[in-house]
Amino acid sequence: MTQIVDGKALGLSLRAAVAAAVTRFVAHTGRRPGLDVVLVGEDPASQVYVRNKARACEEAGMRGEVHRLDADTDEAALLSFLAALQARDEVDGLLVQLPLPRHIDAEKVLLAIDPARDVDGFHPLNAGRLFAGQRSLVPCTPLGCLRMLDHAGVRLDGARAVVLGRSNIVGKPMAMLLVGRNATVTLAHSRTRDLEAVCREADVLVAAVGKAKMVTRAFVKEGAAVLDVGINRTAEGKLVGDVDFDALVGHAGVLTPVPGGVGPMTIACLLENTLRAAWARAGLDPATLGV
Ligand code: NAP
Repeated sequence: MTQIVDGKALGLSLRAAVAAAVTRFVAHTGRRPGLDVVLVGEDPASQVYVRNKARACEEAGMRGEVHRLDADTDEAALLSFLAALQARDEVDGLLVQLPLPRHIDAEKVLLAIDPARDVDGFHPLNAGRLFAGQRSLVPCTPLGCLRMLDHAGVRLDGARAVVLGRSNIVGKPMAMLLVGRNATVTLAHSRTRDLEAVCREADVLVAAVGKAKMVTRAFVKEGAAVLDVGINRTAEGKLVGDVDFDALVGHAGVLTPVPGGVGPMTIACLLENTLRAAWARAGLDPATLGV
């Protein structure tokens, strides 16, 4: 039997927990936690993402604001815009939607974000803290994956985990979170030899590649937990993951669908990170967050 993890339902329950904590935050501080999202240019997918992020904040009782800058905004102008935003106390969380136009150095922009407000967890200081096993704001997608594994009751302590994909936003932080939970982790990528055999070793397999249905049955040990981060559009316009879902039902022990899996958890974890940032900035004890 394969346990399918419903990311939509799990995301909604996390969002409800965040909303309840927001009420306590407002009662304590007299203001709402706030997320500011900066979008440079008119990339259609990014437009949808930023709108959804701001709307999700409002639904959880937080302030969510999108700042749209022209595609030809130069790097210096973007940096001074970020500095001005961060001078405002009500900005608890700040993120710049990626990808940025090519004329802007994304690394410089990420460095300009206050690590305490870095709700994407992409600032090198937060990445370093995660690497060092210290408390930090953790990238939302791998955090969502961890929450799904916990929800499904997957034992991570001593498990063999393979993370397929080594990006800074998904694969690497996912690997560090799993190491932090005492899994033995392999970080696989496009140069990994005998990839299928490496993946078949895994009790926990996280696929974050960006290749439609690449992970077939041949990649998966019977009973393994398989998390599908991939979002790919087929020629027919259908949304599919990196995992061949239908082929793994009845073979994997735990499986996440696309859509309705990791995606909704990512946005719920962004709300959690925003609340977490607000909580810390208000000097509240993280143990009282209750999320
Ligand atoms: P990325 O930066 O493009 O990284 C892809 C990784 O996959 C790279 O490490 C690459 O290896 C590896 N790879 C590519 N082809 C491979 C192959 N044939 N065999 C083995 N490894 C291969 O992508 P990303 O930003 O991590 O995103 C991955 C996927 O997750 C995308 O579909 C993206 O849309 C999706 N995503 C979803 C969410 C969500 O909320 N659900 C969030 C973020 C991303 P090399 O390093 O060797 O090139």
